[in-house]
Amino acid sequence: MKAEIIAIGSELLLGETIDTNSAYLARQLAGVGINLFRKTVVGDNTERIATAVADALARSDLVLCTGGLGPTKDDVTREGIAQATGQALEFRQELLDQIAARFAAFKRQMSESNRRQAYVPADARAIENPRGTAPAFIVEDERGVIIALPGVPHEMRFLFENAVVPYLRDERGVQDVILVRTLHAAGLGESVIGERIADLMEGSNPTVGISAKQARYELRIGARADSVVAAEEMIVKVEATIQERLGSYLIGAETLEQQAFRLLEEQSLTLTLYEGATAAPVYRALSVSPAGLARLRGVMIHPLDRPADEHAAAALAFSGAISASDRWRSDLGLGVQAATLPDESGLTAVSVALVFHNGSHQVTRHYDLRQTESWDFVGTLALELLRRHLLGAET
Ligand code: ATP
Repeated sequence: MKAEIIAIGSELLLGETIDTNSAYLARQLAGVGINLFRKTVVGDNTERIATAVADALARSDLVLCTGGLGPTKDDVTREGIAQATGQALEFRQELLDQIAARFAAFKRQMSESNRRQAYVPADARAIENPRGTAPAFIVEDERGVIIALPGVPHEMRFLFENAVVPYLRDERGVQDVILVRTLHAAGLGESVIGERIADLMEGSNPTVGISAKQARYELRIGARADSVVAAEEMIVKVEATIQERLGSYLIGAETLEQQAFRLLEEQSLTLTLYEGATAAPVYRALSVSPAGLARLRGVMIHPLDRPADEHAAAALAFSGAISASDRWRSDLGLGVQAATLPDESGLTAVSVALVFHNGSHQVTRHYDLRQTESWDFVGTLALELLRRHLLGAET
């Protein structure tokens, strides 16, 4: 089954409301194994809604609309869908009774405009909305099925889970399941990871995709099968292959921070930081996590006041890590120091040192520090050095 989503509302086009409904529906459709081919956003305009629905029906079997079912004149989803399917709108007394009962339950006066919500396309099957006033509805057309859901996110979610999913399973024979698992990796370049799992990325079921952010990688495995157990089995197999290919660079379901801080806690180790720049990249990466803060004994931020080349930066990162860990008597000290001047290609050497009671590790990399995001890469580099040390992996 091919599906499309149409989010309806001029506020979505104006950027005043973020279209979270489509994102929610996209995830839910994946969960029941329905392929989503397109998302459209359209304003509160009958003609444009009708065109969007007719276009979607020409391509897909299932069209999910959200929004525009309210009582006001600009809520014209009903009209748009009626027009796209060549039907008249029909008044349903039972819908008006449901709406009236809801107002009565809240001891509020129903307004005349709520009558609009008791109209649905003539062949539509109405879905009662116990969370709000706008009834949803399903229209079956020879081209496909259109389902109109309210725009209020919690109403839309409730009706999707309690009415749409049962309808798709019971009446449309939707049985597939798509499971998605996200794994985290760090410490290797995206191209290296891509090369090591290139063959897996070419598969169509299961699928493997990779996305990068601040030198951390997310690998998404998606498997489609006729049961959760079968999909899970497919994922476990691919995961084992990825593990084999990436070794300790694959972090797993945890994020880099989660794993590093869990290992610190399990090994009852404390940490101090020496940061040779006010950007304080390691503190910034660590301080978002209560688990990280819980292991932190102190932070020394010491902007450099004299020029340093790559070698001086490495020495300062090392001695800074030692003096911070001495001062707060921590088990581990992480030191970061950038050189003061970039080389001819605009890159600046940044050295990260990790000291512990019987040794140390140190790495130096080059970054374009004119771009402030580069400091995020430095934070990742330091936490990855820490994680690998705690795992006992090669650094
Ligand atoms: P109701 O009659 O229950 O209000 P409705 O179908 O008329 O529902 P809208 O009037 O389109 O819904 O929107 C109601 C609320 O839901 C608004 O606050 C709107 O910002 C929000 N909303 C609408 N569409 C979306 C969407 N796609 N994503 C997130 N929020 C949305």
